[in-house]
Amino acid sequence: MNGTAHAALGAATGFIVANTFNASPSTTLFLVGLGGVSGLIPDLDIDGKLRGKITLSHKVIRTVAQLIGILMIFYSIYEGISTEKWLGIGIGLGMIVVSSMIKQRHMLTITGVGVLMGGFSLQEIWLMLLGIYILIASFVSHRSYTHSILGVAFFGIIASRLEVSIGIDGVFYTCLAGYISHLIADLKILPFNKRGIKLFLPVSSKEL
Ligand SMILES: [Zn+2]
Repeated sequence: MNGTAHAALGAATGFIVANTFNASPSTTLFLVGLGGVSGLIPDLDIDGKLRGKITLSHKVIRTVAQLIGILMIFYSIYEGISTEKWLGIGIGLGMIVVSSMIKQRHMLTITGVGVLMGGFSLQEIWLMLLGIYILIASFVSHRSYTHSILGVAFFGIIASRLEVSIGIDGVFYTCLAGYISHLIADLKILPFNKRGIKLFLPVSSKEL
């Protein structure tokens, strides 16, 4: 499955969650976007040792990195106070510039470091954890840990901290459902997948 399909599937799950929570139109739009991003997150592992088919192009990753940079700027403007605000804006701008310059390799590692720094400067646990997630994802092989139950659990923690931080109902379920939808779409039982996912890492490395 390619990036666009994964994003569309994640967005659809966000829409379902929004309806379940009777969200307002603006919150629905936010959850649809959040679901779309969550549906792409597991494939942030393609910067590592590339094996098998790549589902997410370099362009998509760059766009995601820039989107995170833009979100960080907005977030800093609304949430940060004085010094933190400018630091957050600076890091966000830096991420946009750096991700547009760097080609292929190491871009994700740098993005992870940037997000981690942003998390520290804004004192946001979810952002620090997301930075760590991206850092790890940039080193593991494709369709391994980010496509496992361990990955779901890690992302679930990030999502729950995000929901607490921004106080919008449905954020946790949207992120989780969007992420899980990606793993289901990558299962080997589906005819368009040549490879499966190692769901039970590190206990078992059997591809499902
Ligand atoms: Zn995948």
